[in-house]
Amino acid sequence: MKIAILPGDGIGPEIMTQAVKVLNALGEPFEMESADVGGAGYAAAGHPLPPATLALAKAADAVLFGAVGDFKYDSLERSLRPEQAILGLRKELQLFANLRPAILYPELAGASTLKPEIVSGLDILIIRELTGDIYFGKPRGVRECPDGPFKGDREGFDTMRYAESEIRRIAHVAFQAAQKRDKRVTSVDKANVLETFQFWRDIVTEVHQDYPDVALDHMYVDNAAMQLVRAPKKFDVLVTGNMFGDILSDCAAMLTGSIGMLPSASLDANNKGLYEPSHGSAPDIAGKGIANPLATILSAAMMLRYSFDKAEQAERIENAVKSVLRQGLRTADIDEAGALRVSTEEMGNAVVKALA
Ligand code: NAD
Repeated sequence: MKIAILPGDGIGPEIMTQAVKVLNALGEPFEMESADVGGAGYAAAGHPLPPATLALAKAADAVLFGAVGDFKYDSLERSLRPEQAILGLRKELQLFANLRPAILYPELAGASTLKPEIVSGLDILIIRELTGDIYFGKPRGVRECPDGPFKGDREGFDTMRYAESEIRRIAHVAFQAAQKRDKRVTSVDKANVLETFQFWRDIVTEVHQDYPDVALDHMYVDNAAMQLVRAPKKFDVLVTGNMFGDILSDCAAMLTGSIGMLPSASLDANNKGLYEPSHGSAPDIAGKGIANPLATILSAAMMLRYSFDKAEQAERIENAVKSVLRQGLRTADIDEAGALRVSTEEMGNAVVKALA
């Protein structure tokens, strides 16, 4: 079980230290090796995804990733910015399915901005396609506007596109995930306006014929955003494209109380995966020792379940997290009256203790 440990920037190293501590406490024969990535990769080797880091990630059975991004690199040309590391890894490792469970632990019902009765008991899974869509489509750039009312003006442009096989494979992931849950899939698109997403809808409907035991419905993304806040518990599995999934999964993160609680898995066709918290590098709180490490620790649990087939050890971690929340331990982002405020490190230590 070779794990590439890529802490990254900002709070990345702080939260990763806690996740590694938890993994070490399991007593499994993991082989862990760390490498620089993101801004740290650029500082050390002149590239956000240095060749040695990519080689380590490719050789590993799974990658545990912290977060990347630092505003001091915002003036670099785009290909050298820290965020390119994560896009590069997804592409190089052919990670096309991003699984983001949004579960509301009853102890945190008060930390959600929504009323407890709307979110308590929430357990949904957002599946975001990762390799296609407007994020990678070409052509893209800035040019002289060729036509229309702004002809001759400068314009920025991108291309939204999805290949049939890209849609098919993510639809299969969604239907198979639903078979292990409540057997309901909502496919989110913008078929009323975008050709790409009318095509998406048609293909998802075709793939659905292989899964008669799963119910499928389609929803426009604007309505899905509204329903996620109005009645999130009505969903089971949501499947959508890269950009809509990016936005909706952050919205779902907030339902759970804090983005600091939300793990994620990005899988290839063979369940090799990259596991990371859904949040970024949080430069505003980096170095203060107050970041919530639970999303990263729960990402490590997902790694055990999906890449190493160790559901029991994954559950041990998840139960330890539930236990520390029950004990009233809270980092700043999920703090509430009467709770026991802890640092990043204290939270990690408490999870290790609860494992025992
Ligand atoms: P962010 O997720 O880093 O932070 C948003 C807010 O949530 C901030 O107030 C932050 O303090 C808080 N937050 C995030 N994680 C937290 C945690 N574990 N505990 C407590 N609070 C937490 O998003 P942002 O501010 O928009 O972006 C910061 C940088 O991160 C940017 O450079 C961005 O490009 C990058 N980013 C990276 C990833 C990634 O590595 N996968 C994802 C998103 C953003």
